[in-house]
Amino acid sequence: MFRLPAAWAKSTVRSFSSFGKVDERIVSLISGIVGPGNITTSESARNLHGTDESFHPTRAPDAVVTPLTTPHVSEIMKICHSHRIPVIPFGTGTGFEGGVGAVYGGLCIAMHKMTEIVEVNQSDFDATVRGGVTRHQLNDWIRADGLHFPIDPGAGASVCGMCSTSASGTNAVRYGTMRENVLNMEVVLADGTVVHTAGEGRRPKKTSCGYNLTNLFVGSEGTLGVITQATVRLHGIPEATAAAISSFDTVQNAVDTVVQILQCGLPMARIEYLNVDMIRACNQFSNLDLKEAPTLFLEFIGSPSGVEEQAMLAEELCVGNGGENFSWATEHSERERLWKARHNCWYAIKATYPGKHAYSTDVVVPVSHLPETVLYCHSLAEEMEVPCPIVGHVGDGNFHCFLLSDQNNDAEMARIKDFSRRLALTAQSYGGSCTGEHGIGLGKRELLIKEVGAGAYDTMKVVKKSLDPLLIMNPGKVIDLDHLL
Ligand SMILES: Cc1cc2nc3c(=O)[nH]c(=O)nc-3n(C[C@H](O)[C@H](O)[C@H](O)COP(=O)(O)OP(=O)(O)OC[C@H]3O[C@@H](n4cnc5c(N)ncnc54)[C@H](O)[C@@H]3O)c2cc1C
Repeated sequence: MFRLPAAWAKSTVRSFSSFGKVDERIVSLISGIVGPGNITTSESARNLHGTDESFHPTRAPDAVVTPLTTPHVSEIMKICHSHRIPVIPFGTGTGFEGGVGAVYGGLCIAMHKMTEIVEVNQSDFDATVRGGVTRHQLNDWIRADGLHFPIDPGAGASVCGMCSTSASGTNAVRYGTMRENVLNMEVVLADGTVVHTAGEGRRPKKTSCGYNLTNLFVGSEGTLGVITQATVRLHGIPEATAAAISSFDTVQNAVDTVVQILQCGLPMARIEYLNVDMIRACNQFSNLDLKEAPTLFLEFIGSPSGVEEQAMLAEELCVGNGGENFSWATEHSERERLWKARHNCWYAIKATYPGKHAYSTDVVVPVSHLPETVLYCHSLAEEMEVPCPIVGHVGDGNFHCFLLSDQNNDAEMARIKDFSRRLALTAQSYGGSCTGEHGIGLGKRELLIKEVGAGAYDTMKVVKKSLDPLLIMNPGKVIDLDHLL
């Protein structure tokens, strides 16, 4: 088992009070780099940048800086490093695990002014974007070239934020996650050093060249460095697309159908499962009249005849499992309407339970264990008497249960934390993970240790301490600060 070198232990922060503060002198130093209009200590900006979509209670940063260039980020990091100031990178704040909360105060580096699309290599199917570019901005830019960046977390996230959480979403069953779609990244380390994870300017589709630094930073949740640029894979916009839905009598039948569709090797673009509670909320929120039953949303892409063939085979499998109302649409507007409703699930649930805070679980299991895990989730909800709207990227074995609670009600909060933990432990017991795409953040740090075991966890600590010996990068996230001191 790895042991942390004693020299590193000595050089680290010993207690939380050892962190420096963002005082007037620091603000003035940073203002000298980025200009006075690009750093603020206003309460509204601090509050806005200290929260994401999660319910984890955290604290606002002491100041928010909006750099314009990578050299800006590097100079800012040098100052923070020499004063041991915590730094929290911020993309668009759509994360689900409290990643942007400033647990120990410090400086938020908000990336939204670094909006340059550096290059698009149409015939190589890749693009390089700066730290603040959102996936929507990239897709708007490349659509006319017949290209798209398919990783689709639903929200308008930044591409570099998506690198940082290893995001995926509805299209992952076809195109993979950020891990498979990032070719290179420019990262500013804790001491201000700028590195290119695959070498400056490189964008090969495959490489065996040394350690895979790119995938070390993908999923690092701002704890190892600030991602200032990413080179990502693009894909051709398919010639034809069709969307279909089918409703089932039972959860088991719906989920069994997913497994059979995958076993048949159907090249699905998307397979999403929505349970009764979720369909009811979608009907109300998106003005639909879908049957209130366990439902699959499917999408097929390819040539027009290929799409038709895929849809017919999928229909056969749905019907074979008692699926009803199999209907498929090729018109853009109808497809958009359905998928918009799917993407609005989070907001539909929030609207259905006004005044409640929602928390999204994120378990993923090998697909063969999907039926029993979804059924377990339903039985747990019944046992614990909690509402249980479920939506899932079930083609990957990943699904979310949106848990509702009143943050001021300790009993409710304890109940949903218990629910979430029991579901995650069950997924782990089936060889799965407590998080398929949202990350560890604040809420799943204990589950991380259980999942990877002592050897891998200690190795992660070694990596963290060697890249960030003063522990200033997003402290308290992923690895508990106490475990690093
Ligand atoms: C309605 C809704 C649906 C969603 N659906 C999905 C889904 O299907 N799949 C999915 O994967 N996610 C989903 N998400 C979650 C979210 O969109 C992703 O986690 C996304 O990757 C966060 O990107 P962001 O730019 O908003 O990052 P933020 O929320 O700003 O930050 C997230 C984490 O990344 C770090 N970070 C941000 N930018 C950088 C950077 N440049 N360098 C280093 N660290 C950085 C932050 O410090 C933080 O730890 C959904 C969110 C919402 C609101």
